Amino acid sequence: MSVTAPTGYPVDLHAHSTRSDGALSPTALIEKAAGRGLKIMALTDHDTTAGFEEASEVGRRLGVTLIPGVEISAWHEREVHVLGYFVDPSDEALSAALRQRKIAREDRVRTICARLKGLGMPLDAEGIISRAGRGNVGRPHVARAMVFAQYVRSHDEAFKRYLGLNKPAYVAASHLPVANAIALIHGAGGLAVIAHPCADRLEKHIPAFAEMGLDGVEVYHPAHHHGQRVALLKLCELHQLAVTGGTDFHGPEGDPPGTCGLTVEDFEQILPRLRRRRGLDLGATLDQLGAS
Ligand code: AMP
Ligand code: FE
Ligand code: FE
Ligand code: ZN
Repeated sequence: MSVTAPTGYPVDLHAHSTRSDGALSPTALIEKAAGRGLKIMALTDHDTTAGFEEASEVGRRLGVTLIPGVEISAWHEREVHVLGYFVDPSDEALSAALRQRKIAREDRVRTICARLKGLGMPLDAEGIISRAGRGNVGRPHVARAMVFAQYVRSHDEAFKRYLGLNKPAYVAASHLPVANAIALIHGAGGLAVIAHPCADRLEKHIPAFAEMGLDGVEVYHPAHHHGQRVALLKLCELHQLAVTGGTDFHGPEGDPPGTCGLTVEDFEQILPRLRRRRGLDLGATLDQLGAS
């Protein structure tokens, strides 16, 4: 039985699995999405496309179309998350860059743990890395270890006091320039979209990103309030950027898949841009664009 939540959208273009810092495996994530009536999903794990194959297999069985996606940590005066949609997961340059990012993420966790040790909170960095398993490790894994060691009461407190931007154990995920992240995504045949720009206070940089070749903006994100969405829509119109959205689902505590996203009609507005980038004719189907 498929159930659509009263406020649900059929398209959700932002979700995480255990291949990065999500709580659900790609299989469990797509099962949950299917149960909520989702039709089109993008799995956008941090710096990896490793969950796509498993997710798309489950999606085929349950009637959810999977768009290959990724959320790349980049840098432009501050941290910037660049979403890539319809990227070819087997693209050589993208895969090589993501392999490097995986190693850099592990080193970063060692650096964060060294800082925390200096603050009187020793943790086992190698244990944190190995518990992330096949997934890309990140600050949420460190936060979990801090809660477990009773250094903080909650995940939120770990970020607010130690791991968040400008806090004493903050270490940037990546200094990859945004222009390079966009180029990697384009090289892999995808569209580059700036993730949750208002949550990261990046609004004023959007014109510069548009100059770099950015394709779209994640307007619909749970952290964006109505006024911010209206302002972003105006920016998109001015710079001819596509409009995207999703829940940024990480696990059962957050907004469930489909509570934020797009209608199928709004999703289809994105496709002509992708067909143009690929030099495909306007009749190219989702399959031909790499969804499955
Ligand atoms: P990382 O990729 O390691 O920098 O971690 C970024 C992730 O940490 C985000 O995708 C969220 O899952 C989580 N995160 C970032 N900021 C916060 C915050 N202030 N409170 C809780 N979780 C956060
Ligand atoms: Fe995350
Ligand atoms: Fe993000
Ligand atoms: Zn995300």
